[in-house]
Amino acid sequence: MALFGGDAFKYLMFVGDPHGRDQHILRSIHLNSPEAVVLLGDMCFEEPVHHIFKAVDEKSRLHWIHGNHDTVHEHWFDNIFHSPWSGRNLHGRVAPIATVRIAGLGGVFRGKIWNPTLPPRYETRKAWQSIHSHKRFAQVYEASKRKHESSIWPEDYDCLAMLHADVLVLHEAPTSDRYGHKALDELASKLGVRLIIHGHHHRFYCDTLDNGIAVVGLGLAQIARLNVSAFKEAKTNEDIFAAFDFEPYTNRYE
Ligand SMILES: [Zn+2]
Repeated sequence: MALFGGDAFKYLMFVGDPHGRDQHILRSIHLNSPEAVVLLGDMCFEEPVHHIFKAVDEKSRLHWIHGNHDTVHEHWFDNIFHSPWSGRNLHGRVAPIATVRIAGLGGVFRGKIWNPTLPPRYETRKAWQSIHSHKRFAQVYEASKRKHESSIWPEDYDCLAMLHADVLVLHEAPTSDRYGHKALDELASKLGVRLIIHGHHHRFYCDTLDNGIAVVGLGLAQIARLNVSAFKEAKTNEDIFAAFDFEPYTNRYE
């Protein structure tokens, strides 16, 4: 396990699906002062994200990707997608964070848009909207549109696949999880990342994909801290896993 604390080490904090839990994240930021924080989706925050994390933002800048639950209720959606911080969503892009290039893909695969074992039903939001904004869908259009903001769109996947990164953060799982998707193994390979960190299934594990890429799955609201220099110097996937400190998630955080 890596040491933490002190100025000699830079840490990135990753948090598995918070599902409304924020107090333990704030406490851990105060205690550990990570360079930045990345939430892995399904935040389901009852308050706008910039209210919750304002007091710690100078210390540790917050980023996230969205999960499937973040579009279930209008206020959960608004609290992240309509926050003044909405640009902190890493979905569909690569951002240099504490010298690590982090690529993000939020959401989940939904067959009504794209089951990745089949050709996509819709490549773009525009193509979907041109059909579903028709008046026969009027009653459900706005709710469906919001829901599919947390679907994985081929247009986002394809843009991301052209970039290069060190780490890929996903809500949905690659094939290291039994419900995972090969399309995400392939995305990681195209990006050239060494490490995937994902949420969604609330299962903590470390594993290696067939293509050799390291995977960390985080449990419900689980916090992980990655020592940046240990990650960069890692020669093997075991070295990558050893660059993490994992906090167990327990109900004492409630
Ligand atoms: Zn989820």
